[in-house]
Amino acid sequence: MRSRFSAYAVKNYAYVLATYAPEQRRSLTLSTLRESTDNTRWLKLDVLGSAERDAVGIVEFIATYALDTDYFRIHELSSFIKQDAHWYYTTGVMQNKSGKFTPNRNDECPCGSAVKYKKCCRK
Ligand SMILES: [Zn+2]
Repeated sequence: MRSRFSAYAVKNYAYVLATYAPEQRRSLTLSTLRESTDNTRWLKLDVLGSAERDAVGIVEFIATYALDTDYFRIHELSSFIKQDAHWYYTTGVMQNKSGKFTPNRNDECPCGSAVKYKKCCRK
C-alpha cells in the first residue's frame, strides 16, 4: 500500500502496474496510468487501518494530492489479494472524505511539512 503510494509519487508506473492483481492489470497500460496521474502532486498518505485474513487484505487510507493550486483527498477502502507471498491491489471503494478541500490558514500544511499552511504553501 505505502509502496504503491510512493511509486505514484515518483511516477514509477511500472511498479504501480506490477502491483495490480493480474485481472485488473490486463485492462491497464503504462501510458493510461501515466496520463491519469502525471500532473498529480502526491503529498501525503495516512493509513487509517488495515486487516487481513487468509489471502485477502483491506486497507483504509487517505491520500492527499494537489493539482495546480487545488487540494484533493482520496479516502478509499482498498482490497488486496495475496499471491506467492506478494500483495496485489484489486479494487478500491471511495469513502466519504474524498474530494476537493481548502485548507484553513492555521491548518497543518497539506504538503506534509508540519508547518502551518499560511507559512508554507499558501500563496
Ligand atoms: Zn506546504
